[in-house]
Amino acid sequence: MSIADNIASIQQRISAAEKKSGRVPGSVKLIAVSKTKPLAMVQEAFVAGHIDFGENRDREMRDKHKELAEVNWHMIGNFQRSNIKYFISFVYLIHSISSEKLLRAVNKEAEKHQRVVDCLLQLHISGESAKSGLEPSEAEDLLRAIESFPNIRIKGLMGMAALSHDEKLIQSQFRSLRLAKEAFQAIQHPRIQLEELSMGMSGDYHLAIQEGATMIRIGSAIFGSRG
Ligand SMILES: *Cc1c(COP(=O)(O)O)cnc(C)c1O
Repeated sequence: MSIADNIASIQQRISAAEKKSGRVPGSVKLIAVSKTKPLAMVQEAFVAGHIDFGENRDREMRDKHKELAEVNWHMIGNFQRSNIKYFISFVYLIHSISSEKLLRAVNKEAEKHQRVVDCLLQLHISGESAKSGLEPSEAEDLLRAIESFPNIRIKGLMGMAALSHDEKLIQSQFRSLRLAKEAFQAIQHPRIQLEELSMGMSGDYHLAIQEGATMIRIGSAIFGSRG
């Protein structure tokens, strides 16, 4: 199977899952997670018509962007505050805002570039200590403090479910992200536009779509395992 075949087959499954869960056709966007994979693979997907790519390393994303500026580069992983400079000028959406310090630093770098940068708040939904993210109350505090971050626009929430075979557990974690988003809708501000729910990876995206995902982040099912 080629990369283009893999993307086409996932798009078909997305359509089927949208249909099954009564979602509007086309309401789930596929982010192809190309982290650790060579640029040639990204180019292959791009030539096949794919536009949105996710990376989790700042310098790797910078290097790939240098060669391929036409795509939407999504930052999905933990990054150092000191490395925001590598991607702030071009990043399309930052999914992984997991602390106030990070948001403050992104705001500062965005200001230098006179950009308002789209971000998602990453919530800790898995119960696993290894995964980062804000508690719902911390996310609410950040949203209420949006005036302190004039170069940030909050577009929604991101979450990662537990690594588990228990589908009910995974589903309840995705649901908790959706419910948090619904609760936060009450907070109104021109730079708070809670539209996106970034949740679901290669192993669990069918569950995420049932629970309202608008963006799924798929790596290994497109590009193969990362060894
Ligand atoms: C690597 C990664 C993905 C993709 O994982 P796959 O299981 O390969 O689909 C999604 N989201 C985040 C945050 C990741 O780091």
